[in-house]
Amino acid sequence: MPSEFELIARYFTRATSHTELGIGDDGALVVPTHGQVLVISTDLLVEGTHFLSDTDPEALGWKTLAVNISDMAAMGAQPRWATLAAALPAPTESWIEDFAGGFFECANSYGIDLVGGDTTRGPRTFCVTIIGEVPAGQALRRDGAKAGDSIWVSGKPGLAALGLAHLQGRTRLAEPALSECLAALHRPQPRISLGLALRGIASAAIDVSDGLLADLGHVLEQSGLAARLHIPNLPAAGLERDCLLAGGDDYELLFTAAAGLDSAVMALSARLELPLTRIGEIVVGPPGELVLCDDGGSVITPAIRGYDHFMSPTGREGTVSRDKQ
Ligand code: ADP
Ligand code: MG
Repeated sequence: MPSEFELIARYFTRATSHTELGIGDDGALVVPTHGQVLVISTDLLVEGTHFLSDTDPEALGWKTLAVNISDMAAMGAQPRWATLAAALPAPTESWIEDFAGGFFECANSYGIDLVGGDTTRGPRTFCVTIIGEVPAGQALRRDGAKAGDSIWVSGKPGLAALGLAHLQGRTRLAEPALSECLAALHRPQPRISLGLALRGIASAAIDVSDGLLADLGHVLEQSGLAARLHIPNLPAAGLERDCLLAGGDDYELLFTAAAGLDSAVMALSARLELPLTRIGEIVVGPPGELVLCDDGGSVITPAIRGYDHFMSPTGREGTVSRDKQ
């Protein structure tokens, strides 16, 4: 088995493109762009909670970084640098090679330099800290929604949760839906282009990691407002509806924008070739309250809102472990 230093040199040290001093010293040196503020975010992935031991390492490498990039998208930030702290049980080299392959494929796709980290023996755990940049005053925050704003969501939330339900035998998907759902689950595509384009348009934004209703709830609580939702094509009942509303793990963006900007948002959808769906509006009401209407206008009360590590008996959403039964 290679030493810690051989592992780092062989699998985690790659040429950087915008870093003064990367892996190898006691700290990395990075130079922020003049006039930009730094956006910093951390995510932890623990085996058994966020992924199972038989998870494909390449997909896991991609997802470990992608979930952090999604936080940058939700802030309207350009991701620039990342660190990776890894605990590994007696590492097999092929596993690490595949994990690093997926990780760097994602890093290269989004122009991110890996500038440091830490490596230790232990139950398999990955912690990424990501650093991005946004022009001062232009970050997309959760607390900026205003009464009357439209509520939008990108892509098709719920696919990742449906893919997981298939893997767990709770539903049977047929092609082509199956491939689409498994891609959403294993290879989320964080919406950086959308986040950047929403600077100056969105009043608030969040990425949908814990379920659409739960994440919208965070925006409402922080903005001190309520929402009325009319979700087009909302499945009437059952697993599909639960996945759409409470699925999570999609890493789509949910955002609010003044109603006067509806056509600007639609134009953005066309330009980015990304579906953006208006699902409701922000209203004055008890902070965090959500009223959900179906196509006929009747009010739906969802059984579950989303996921919470400390309230669920079964753990969290993840590549394979999520179970909301
Ligand atoms: P220190 O003793 O200062 O903690 P280490 O010996 O742990 O340094 O790490 C040596 C170098 O390798 C440092 O620059 C560190 O940032 C980097 N590094 C360690 N583990 C990783 C990793 N998993 N991914 C990327 N860089 C890493
Ligand atoms: Mg160290």
